[in-house]
Amino acid sequence: MAGRLQGKRALITGAAQGIGRAAAELFAAEGAKVVATDVNAGKLQELAGRARIETAELDVTDEVAVTTLAEGLGAMEVIFNCAGYVHQGTILECPEEEWRRSFEVNVRSAYLVSQAFLPAMLKAGGGTIVNMASAVSSIKGVPNRCAYGASKAAVIGLTKSIAADYVGQGIRCNALCPGTVETPSLGERIAALGDGPEIKEAFVARQPMGRLGQAEEIAKAALYLASDESAFMTGTVLVIDGGMSL
Ligand code: NAD
Repeated sequence: MAGRLQGKRALITGAAQGIGRAAAELFAAEGAKVVATDVNAGKLQELAGRARIETAELDVTDEVAVTTLAEGLGAMEVIFNCAGYVHQGTILECPEEEWRRSFEVNVRSAYLVSQAFLPAMLKAGGGTIVNMASAVSSIKGVPNRCAYGASKAAVIGLTKSIAADYVGQGIRCNALCPGTVETPSLGERIAALGDGPEIKEAFVARQPMGRLGQAEEIAKAALYLASDESAFMTGTVLVIDGGMSL
C-alpha cells in the first residue's frame, strides 16, 4: 500500500527531537521525502542517513537562512512549522526579552517560513501548512504560561489568516494543539522546577486522561493534517490533548 505522503516533499522545523523528530520519522515512513531542519545541528545528525530524510541546519528566526533554504528547495507539498520555545512564568515573571523570544521562535518563525515557501507552493498549484500551536493558547489559559500561551494563540490567528487568504488556490493551513506531551523539553521544564516526582505528577495532573501524550501520537495528527486524508480541512484547530481543554 502506498504511503499517505507518497510523492510529497515535506519540510519540518524543530525536527531534532520531540514531536518534530517523531513527525520526520513518520512522514518518511509514509513515503514523503523529508527535509528535517533544526537549529541544533548536533542532535539533528541523529536523523542523518535515514531513508528519505535529508537534514539541514536552520534557525527559524534567521530570515536570511529561511529565505536561502526556500530558494534552494523550491516547491514543497508539506510544511510543518514545529519549532517552539516554552517560557515558564506569569506576566510579572516575564521580562520583555522572554516575551520577544517566545514570539520570535513560536510565531515569527511560522510567518517567515510560510512567507518564504508559499510563492513556490502557489506556483506549483498547492500544498499544505501545519502550524504547531498548543492547547495552551486561545483554547485554554494555564498558570505560568503567559508568553507561551499568547504566542500560541497568535499561531492560531496566523493559521486562520493564511487559510482564508489562499483557500481558493490549493493551499490548506491548519493548526495542531497538543496537551502536555512527554518530550525532551518537557523533561527540561521539569528539571528547571526542581526535578522531584511531584513536579512530573503536576504535569500529569493537568491531563484528565491521567497520562502525558507521546510525541508519536501527536505526529500521527500532524500526518493527518499533512496528508490528503484531511483534504477538506483548512483553518481548523485540531486539539489532541488528552482532555486537557475539557
Ligand atoms: P522540544 O521543545 O523538545 O524541541 C523543540 C525543537 O525545536 C528542538 O529540537 C529545538 O532545537 C528546536 N528549536 C528551538 N528553537 C529553534 C530555532 N530558533 N530554530 C530551529 N529550531 C529550533 O519539542 P516538543 O516538546 O516536541 O515541541 C515541539 C512543538 O510542539 C513546539 O512548538 C511546542 O511548543 C509544541 N508543543 C509541545 C507540547 C509539549 O508538551 N511538549 C505541547 C503543546 C505544543
